[in-house]
Amino acid sequence: MAFRGVDYLCIDSLFSEQELLVRNTARKFVDERVQPIIRQHFRDATFPKELIPEMAHLGFFGANLEGYGCAGMSNVEYGLIMQEVERGDSGLRSFVSVQGGLVMYPILEYGSEEQKSKWLPKLQSGEAIGCFGLTEPGFGSNPAGMLTRAVQDGSHWVLNGEKTWITNGSVADVAVVWARTPDGIRGFVIEKGTPGFNTSLIHGKWSMRASVTSSLSFSDCRVPESAMLPKAKGLKAPLSCLTQARHGIGWGVIGAAMDCYETARSYVVLRKQFDDKPLASHQMVQEKLAWMITEITKAQLLALQCGRLKDQGKLEPAHISMLKRNNAAMALECARLSRDLLGGNGITEEYPIMRHLMNLETVKTYEGTDHIHALVIGERVTGVAAYK
Ligand SMILES: Cc1cc2nc3c(=O)[nH]c(=O)nc-3n(C[C@H](O)[C@H](O)[C@H](O)COP(=O)(O)OP(=O)(O)OC[C@H]3O[C@@H](n4cnc5c(N)ncnc54)[C@H](O)[C@@H]3O)c2cc1C
Repeated sequence: MAFRGVDYLCIDSLFSEQELLVRNTARKFVDERVQPIIRQHFRDATFPKELIPEMAHLGFFGANLEGYGCAGMSNVEYGLIMQEVERGDSGLRSFVSVQGGLVMYPILEYGSEEQKSKWLPKLQSGEAIGCFGLTEPGFGSNPAGMLTRAVQDGSHWVLNGEKTWITNGSVADVAVVWARTPDGIRGFVIEKGTPGFNTSLIHGKWSMRASVTSSLSFSDCRVPESAMLPKAKGLKAPLSCLTQARHGIGWGVIGAAMDCYETARSYVVLRKQFDDKPLASHQMVQEKLAWMITEITKAQLLALQCGRLKDQGKLEPAHISMLKRNNAAMALECARLSRDLLGGNGITEEYPIMRHLMNLETVKTYEGTDHIHALVIGERVTGVAAYK
């Protein structure tokens, strides 16, 4: 069934015709191609790789980047794509976020001409899949403590260490990996099959089941000097990639929230209890819907303002912290309230709500947890860093 959208406050009137065209194209793709298959993939814990060529053809990968075959869309257009894709599933949106924001962006921004021309066209066309290795078993919220080391040996770098929770890790053709060097933290572009580089799938996830998550290990992994991202120096380089991806997450989760809200709203007007009256006729049920539509509307306005600021080059990481933190928490609460309104039916896979709810638990945690973004905002408004 075609999704009719959630727009309480005529927010569509704030988008250009081109932005609405992009959104509606992504919406149709999700309705026709994602919705019919995603439940089975989630149940089987498989990524829907059959969708990669179509997403590439629609320009989703690196959509807001310029050159090397990228679509060169605005950040608002990109955000609207992410919203629709995450309405399908957060795992699918994670794939698009990682490919564009965490792999193509650092190669474009910090890579050599050789790295750009080798990888960007292939990543844009979906011929190659990428992953981004920052998190380690002992260092998640605090990547500055990373233990993965790269030391120079003649014209090569030798990497040792372990990364974990890496989206696309086991299926990636190329990994952007961050390691400590005598010169500070540096990024490396490492090809699948490089001796000493191994991946293993993380099993047993109750969240992001339609997404591949892996550990990466480096054991005397030798890469040529040309594998280093020449312009990425220090932790601010990987953090700048996260800024790109978090902007997409801030938009994406609105899609998951819309799907939960709309599922619950259409359910309560039909489902009857007590004197053959619909659930929608009860005040406590309406209060939950009122909360959700109000919070979704506020989240839409927050995302739109961030997208517009990003297009003007004025969006700061602390703004994105507010966007990611608020919108992920909002979507998770919408999923919980919607699940409640469906009663027992809410826990089944027949409805998308429980899947979104489980996925959004990851979204609250990855790309900077709710707490860490609160600390970024706190630092911004007080001038005092409270991380340690
Ligand atoms: C499905 C999935 C996919 C992922 N994909 C990727 C990927 O592609 N690449 C990648 O590099 N990483 C990825 N991650 C890792 C993710 O970014 C980390 O899980 C996240 O940064 C949190 O780190 P952690 O899990 O080690 O939790 P921890 O850092 O141990 O945090 C645990 C809890 O402690 C809190 N906490 C920590 N420090 C503080 C503090 N100073 N003050 C208050 N509270 C604090 C946190 O907020 C959290 O509630 C992924 C994770 C998941 C689950």
